[in-house]
Amino acid sequence: MQNDKTKKREVMVGSIGIGGNNPIRVQSMTSTKTVNIQKTEEQIQSLTDAGCEIVRLAIPDKKSLNAFKVIRKDFPNTAFVADIHFNYMLAINAIEEGADKVRINPGNIGSKEHVKDIVEAAKLNKKSIRIGVNSGSLEIKLIDKYKGPTPMAMLESAMKWINYIKSLGFFDIVVSAKSSSVRDTIEIYELLNKNIDLPLHIGVTEAGTFLPGTVKSSIAIGYLLYNNIGDTIRVSLTDDPVKEVEVAWEILKSLGIRYNGPILISCPTCARTRVNLIELARKVELMLREFAIPVKVAVMGCEVNGPGEAREADLGVAAEPGYGLIFRQGKPIRRVEESRIVEELRKELNKLKEQYNG
Ligand code: SF4
Repeated sequence: MQNDKTKKREVMVGSIGIGGNNPIRVQSMTSTKTVNIQKTEEQIQSLTDAGCEIVRLAIPDKKSLNAFKVIRKDFPNTAFVADIHFNYMLAINAIEEGADKVRINPGNIGSKEHVKDIVEAAKLNKKSIRIGVNSGSLEIKLIDKYKGPTPMAMLESAMKWINYIKSLGFFDIVVSAKSSSVRDTIEIYELLNKNIDLPLHIGVTEAGTFLPGTVKSSIAIGYLLYNNIGDTIRVSLTDDPVKEVEVAWEILKSLGIRYNGPILISCPTCARTRVNLIELARKVELMLREFAIPVKVAVMGCEVNGPGEAREADLGVAAEPGYGLIFRQGKPIRRVEESRIVEELRKELNKLKEQYNG
């Protein structure tokens, strides 16, 4: 991985810092109707439990704003972003009601004057703004100039608004420029990274359902993070947003950037497998959520090759009919009955946890 990340300005979203020396932040967005306070609050709780550090909610109307007031009081410590389209007054009201950041696409706010009003409210209340440029809603004249919603067209749009907002003396800005194309996403963020000192919110928009969405997001976000581009990530899926957070953490873990728990390694199985390894791997995966330590745990499909193939794992099990061979760094430590495998791995993880916490 390259080590020449140009440090971006630190921008606060409540108590959560983005950019500067902060870790890459994980964020997501509620998919419930904000006016349905109970369902929205349940989802916010599930998201934060899964490791979501910044929660975005759509505020499409006055009723949603009123619901947000209640939610804000019920979750005083959560970093909230109000997602606003078209209505600048809703952005101002959301800031006044305690949104830590507002996400706007200045192009659809109506006028420079209205964008200025939002900026003044953010300045007064010490809140931040995300400028979200989207390939699907670019100005027509830029689309004509660049013959499509290309990365260059998105860059020009983003730069126009960034420069305008900076000229108002406001710098607490996070920038996103999203496309549903993996290649365009990579290209636009590479351009932004070269041109601005503001933290970047990266992700592929409208990435799709769980499988294609996970693949597209992992490629684009993974590539960018590998090249030290990006300060906060959002995986966008047509699915439960808790899965967005889980995928985001898997991306961070797989690149060795941040850990929220163990890394599961499991073999693909082959003709040597004589057990239901898929079921066992799922059980182990679930149990691993109890631990926050960055260790590798392997679930392997045979006792002959499993321990050796997973030598780099801190802990593992090689399954055989009726039994599991528990091993650490490839060395067998004991053979346990199948029904005890998960419990015995838990025991070993508790020992590793003690060592880790020293
Ligand atoms: Fe096959 Fe055993 Fe390797 Fe799994 S660990 S892929 S079962 S040889």
